[in-house]
Amino acid sequence: MDFALSEEHLMVQKMVREFAEREIAPTVKENDRKHTFDRSILPKMAAQGILGICIPVRYGGAGMDYISLGLTCEELERVDTSARVIMSVHVGLNSLGLLQWGTEEQKQKYLVPQAMGQKIATYGLTEPAAGSDVLGIQSTARREGDHWILNGEKMWISLADVADHFLIFAWTDMEKKRARDHTGMSAFIVERGWPGLETGTIHGKLGVRAGNTGFISMTDVPVPAENMLGLEGEGFRIAMSCLDNGRYTVAAGATGLIRACLEASVKYANERQTFGVPIGQHQLVQQMIANMVLKYEAARLLYLRAGWLKNQGIRNTRETGLAKWFATQSSFESADDAVEIHGAYGYSDEYDVERYLRNSKGAVIYEGSKEIQQLMQAQYALGYRSDKPLRCELPAYDPEEWQREA
Ligand SMILES: Cc1cc2nc3c(=O)[nH]c(=O)nc-3n(C[C@H](O)[C@H](O)[C@H](O)COP(=O)(O)OP(=O)(O)OC[C@H]3O[C@@H](n4cnc5c(N)ncnc54)[C@H](O)[C@@H]3O)c2cc1C
Repeated sequence: MDFALSEEHLMVQKMVREFAEREIAPTVKENDRKHTFDRSILPKMAAQGILGICIPVRYGGAGMDYISLGLTCEELERVDTSARVIMSVHVGLNSLGLLQWGTEEQKQKYLVPQAMGQKIATYGLTEPAAGSDVLGIQSTARREGDHWILNGEKMWISLADVADHFLIFAWTDMEKKRARDHTGMSAFIVERGWPGLETGTIHGKLGVRAGNTGFISMTDVPVPAENMLGLEGEGFRIAMSCLDNGRYTVAAGATGLIRACLEASVKYANERQTFGVPIGQHQLVQQMIANMVLKYEAARLLYLRAGWLKNQGIRNTRETGLAKWFATQSSFESADDAVEIHGAYGYSDEYDVERYLRNSKGAVIYEGSKEIQQLMQAQYALGYRSDKPLRCELPAYDPEEWQREA
């Protein structure tokens, strides 16, 4: 067992940390205040290889491993949750899904420009009336000649108004839809600009205000048959396998947010004085700081283990879910404590901690809420749940293979 990060990992960590501090930190507060998604960050992330960090070089990526993806998300969210969300949908939920399930043609056409950051991608599963209850989605796709015709509404989709490519889940078998049989659902790669597809932004969010969250409306959108990802009826499994990767990025990001809370709290606790001493000398303040240290270290170990399992090509649904549940709930609790430590100043956006509190809540809900994660862990423990092998697993990381040119 080796707990040390490799030279490459340390290099990625340093590169993303410096990038986030240089390119994101100066404007994050203003973008959050104005509810502005700053598109100029995308080409900058692309230039650093961040948008394809763990995608093989021959598919346009940087050829690093899945741990590097986690470290990237941790460093980004230490500075800005909205920047990490880009990684969660573009890389975690979409590009890795294409790597896992895509045909060679689909990888060349969609994964390559995504990994290079020329095209931005997202993931459309949730609908107005169905989030946790995935089999409750209403979107449909009917076959007409060499196309599928998509109809439906997707809601709460990150980067809905920004993305060029959408991974959309819809029922292709109406009998199975009625019976709630998941083998009637399929996955489609859809492009912006196709007739009948419209997107919009949701306003008035509690957090991730510097990010874009919106809806996708589909009215008779013609999707070429070759744009089905995986086989007909594999959509549900594809959706779940993408979540194994998205949740990993969320867990790693939330770990970075705990670190941000800890850093801000330590700084403030050493500066602010009450009763003639810095507040850091009061034991109740120390308790909150100690809890942040514990949560940071434990969250980090959980997500790095999940990343290690991904590198080995070992199924990690249980471990990733555990990391996601613990890290996101811990980041919310840490942000709450960080606001407490800052007293009234924590209640104002003069300091960053109020933004941390607002941003941390979203991740407790999305990509499988805390309750859904708890149910999953209990089901594994009770023996009600076991992971069936998939037709295509996420490929194990192989440095030579990942670095090989086309
Ligand atoms: C900022 C943001 C970004 C998002 N980005 C995306 C995206 O890019 N793509 C995408 O597809 N979706 C996205 N989502 C949607 C997100 O994944 C869903 O909101 C989430 O899955 C929960 O679904 P819901 O909101 O419909 O809540 P519901 O499923 O209606 O749940 C409501 C409450 O009931 C609880 N609950 C539900 N079922 C059970 C049960 N069986 N037992 C106990 N409790 C239960 C839930 O935990 C929750 O507390 C995003 C959401 C947010 C807030």
